[in-house]
Amino acid sequence: MTSPDILVIGGGIAGLSAAAALSSHARVTVLEAEEQIGFHSSGRSATMVHYALGDRLVRALTLASRPFFDEPPDGFSDVPLGRRTPVLVHAREDEREALDKLDAEISHFATLERLDAAGVHTLCPLLREDARHGIADLNGTRLDPHALLQGNLRKLRSRGGELHTGHRIAAIAREGATWAVTSEKGERFFVPTLVNAAGSWADRIAELAGVQPIGLEPKRRTIITFDAPAGTDLEHLPFTKTIGDELYFGSESGRLFASPMDEVPSEATDAQPDEYEVALAAYRMGERTTVEVRQIHSKWAGLRTFTSDRHPAVGFAPDSEGFFWLAGQGGFGLQTSPAMAAIAESLIGGTAWPVPDVAREDLLPDRFLRQPA
Ligand SMILES: Cc1cc2nc3c(=O)[nH]c(=O)nc-3n(C[C@H](O)[C@H](O)[C@H](O)COP(=O)(O)OP(=O)(O)OC[C@H]3O[C@@H](n4cnc5c(N)ncnc54)[C@H](O)[C@@H]3O)c2cc1C
Repeated sequence: MTSPDILVIGGGIAGLSAAAALSSHARVTVLEAEEQIGFHSSGRSATMVHYALGDRLVRALTLASRPFFDEPPDGFSDVPLGRRTPVLVHAREDEREALDKLDAEISHFATLERLDAAGVHTLCPLLREDARHGIADLNGTRLDPHALLQGNLRKLRSRGGELHTGHRIAAIAREGATWAVTSEKGERFFVPTLVNAAGSWADRIAELAGVQPIGLEPKRRTIITFDAPAGTDLEHLPFTKTIGDELYFGSESGRLFASPMDEVPSEATDAQPDEYEVALAAYRMGERTTVEVRQIHSKWAGLRTFTSDRHPAVGFAPDSEGFFWLAGQGGFGLQTSPAMAAIAESLIGGTAWPVPDVAREDLLPDRFLRQPA
């Protein structure tokens, strides 16, 4: 039996970054079902910080998170949290209008270079000739998710917080002003404040607690890795994305990685790659680049979990005291994690609102609360 002030369910990037931030205000314990942190979505991502996904709100959260990645707090990590990796979004002639639109949307958040066909192929020589237009953010960042997770864990522990792995929550009950939380193995915790950072499982956690779910939708995304053509300059290869959500690729540990940007509805589960999406990734590499994927070196899948408006849900549940939502980070949970943690700290710990460009109401879970008939 343990009694911290705040219990965080989920040892992914959402749970650990919020726990680290909250540990300056309270005694915080994180419970993670798996034996290791970041086992699910947080350990399976493309690890990019870029502005070509999401909308204005997601971009604002990303922009607010950038200083943390570029200059982490003293003692947070012994290694850099990321390295500069250019981001190239390219278009065929018939896709030019969509590229113009994205250019206008992103230019508020990042300094972009507009590229003609020659510029596109200089930056990414692997693309086919029909890639005639591009925008490049030379300030893109490829994150080290391990360093990010471990840094947050280190910060949590340095302030007396705890992480318990192998603790899958099986029951949650309200006992007076306290949440009584029981793991599958029977360990019990009593807390006034519960933070639901269970990723794809966050609606299930709400159901366990008798709180109304918010309609989260986990969607599977697949990544493959394979050999690059001889002579490819992997060191300088940009993260390269089609203007439509068809394909992205980049370098990965001496090889190439690619995703067909699939969004296949899924249960909350240990996602596995499906052969169709694996084949689709290879097919689209052949369609948009000069690379022939002869042999797949490795493949994986992970879940990106969205709310219905594709904005995250952060804040206390309006229908239950002390139950805090931190869910729905979709495909941007790593790159927005510092801002999201600061928002959780503000709403729970009472610190100043950290992202002036984002309205609190746009993030609160209240917007999903079912109206009584
Ligand atoms: C292929 C792919 C590419 C992506 N690319 C990017 C990218 O380039 N940039 C970016 O920013 N984001 C990207 N993302 C999204 C990012 O990975 C997620 O938004 C982020 O990892 C979500 O973090 P989380 O902590 O909410 O979820 P998770 O990492 O899944 O953590 C939730 C944790 O809760 C635990 N849990 C669940 N139920 C229980 C229970 N009952 N008891 C205890 N613990 C429980 C789980 O075991 C899990 O570890 C990508 C995702 C995928 C799949």
